[in-house]
Amino acid sequence: MDRKIIGFHLDKYNDWVAELDCYHGQHVRHKPPFTTRPWVITEEGRASKLGTVLNCVRCDALEFPDDLVAYKKTPEFTEETIPKGFQKDHSTKVGVWGLLHVLEGTLIYTVNEPTVMQYEIKQGEQAVIAPRLLHSVEPKGKLRFYVEFYSKVSD
Ligand SMILES: [Zn+2]
Repeated sequence: MDRKIIGFHLDKYNDWVAELDCYHGQHVRHKPPFTTRPWVITEEGRASKLGTVLNCVRCDALEFPDDLVAYKKTPEFTEETIPKGFQKDHSTKVGVWGLLHVLEGTLIYTVNEPTVMQYEIKQGEQAVIAPRLLHSVEPKGKLRFYVEFYSKVSD
């Protein structure tokens, strides 16, 4: 998925990592002659790349980032009380991750990026909802579930 660069840091090997608005990192090394990103060496060069977009494969893989904090959760829903809006394509905002907890029954989770994929989430299982990922859910028979929302605590 396309994610914006919101910052940079050096890793323990002194390689530059771009911090993306999904809270994943992505290496942006300058290792000539094979990888040339001379801009990453300077403060001005890095600043000029803030807001530009990189493709985040860790979002595509629905990899839940480290160090997020749960700040909100929905009530429990059943196959009868599941909101209509959940069953149509919808998404969370930038920087908001969801964890869908299935307490009972089975839920069909459909994501639209990078390709349309359908997952069956069963009792006791969780599914990751990436920020701004268009998705929908529907019950497969009996169902009880809730969604928990996570973000980064600003420091
Ligand atoms: Zn990501």
